[in-house]
Amino acid sequence: MTALPFPRKRTARTASELAEAGLIAPAGTAALAAVAARYAIALPPALLDRIDPGNPADPIARQLVPDASELVDGADELQDPIGDHAHSPLRGIVHRYPDRVLLQPVATCAVYCRYCFRREQVGPDSAPLRPGELDAALDYIRNDTGIWEVILSGGDPLVLAPGKLKRIIDALAAMDHVAVIRIHSRVPIATPEHVTDALLASLRSDKAVYLVLHVNHAQELGPEQIAACRRLSDAGIPLLSQSVLLRGVNDDAATLETLFRTLLRNRIKPYYLHHPDRARGTARFRLPLAEGQTLMKQLRGRLSGLAQPTYVLDIPGGYGKVPVGPDYLSENDAGWSVEDPAGVVHAYPETPA
Ligand SMILES: *Cc1c(COP(=O)(O)O)cnc(C)c1O
Ligand code: SF4
Repeated sequence: MTALPFPRKRTARTASELAEAGLIAPAGTAALAAVAARYAIALPPALLDRIDPGNPADPIARQLVPDASELVDGADELQDPIGDHAHSPLRGIVHRYPDRVLLQPVATCAVYCRYCFRREQVGPDSAPLRPGELDAALDYIRNDTGIWEVILSGGDPLVLAPGKLKRIIDALAAMDHVAVIRIHSRVPIATPEHVTDALLASLRSDKAVYLVLHVNHAQELGPEQIAACRRLSDAGIPLLSQSVLLRGVNDDAATLETLFRTLLRNRIKPYYLHHPDRARGTARFRLPLAEGQTLMKQLRGRLSGLAQPTYVLDIPGGYGKVPVGPDYLSENDAGWSVEDPAGVVHAYPETPA
């Protein structure tokens, strides 16, 4: 990889900084400034360093460099694609399932993904919860003893100062009914230098604390990112991953296989592969469900079961996530037919009870 001209100490946040970094043509700066006015840009040094400027189809650049097509709202696209609002009883809480709740203390991220399903909510200008709002959100969780798991999401909760994060973790851990605290984050990938001893100390708890890492391509897992993940797992935090299936980034079986093997080798268990959400201005990333099913089928026979995520769709409108992976079973008069990983169909007779 050739080094980028952009000074690697700074996060690129504007179209002209992306042009300076050689990631967009200077002539396109004005058009992309209009995109930036609507959807935030942040391309931090640790990921800038992982982009190959000689590759016009670089999978990291494709995820993070804005495109003029983002100003086009597709007819099938939604302002709130997974229906967060419908399940938000108060600011900072999304409560869609009885046993678990999202707590969103911040709406900023270390990096802004162009396909983000919350792109209309997140950005550097979006206000974090005010102290009173955070207290109200914590009270909501404290008062509902049916809540068994709290998912810190956002935005990215790991952009919080360690002291603030620690106060939230400690408050949750003190609630008897909260058994599991889960953190959804892209920080170990985007700003691995933020995974400091202070951050690790803030995550220490008597309750189980899991971290679900958002990562879409093995190229995002450079030495600094892997070291950050290692610090987290050495601190006793089990690591899982979630990836979004994205056109032009990871939409072939070999790329997914490399990603999932790289994750598993680094003690990160692939958890979800998300079908892309219908967020506005994200058409260039979407692909048919049938294509995702075919990819999952191709992985089944050739990749360790430990490395297989569940392929899920978040049903537009706020109806929840469901597995949408390939179906290996079909029912008939004699019971079932089941397809093996090589595509051969076998009878599985089952007599009615
Ligand atoms: C995704 C999501 C969850 C977590 O779902 P799991 O299937 O447990 O990973 C919980 N609440 C909301 C609102 C979500 O969007
Ligand atoms: S890190 Fe997550 S919330 Fe933030 S921009 Fe990316 S997908 Fe959206």
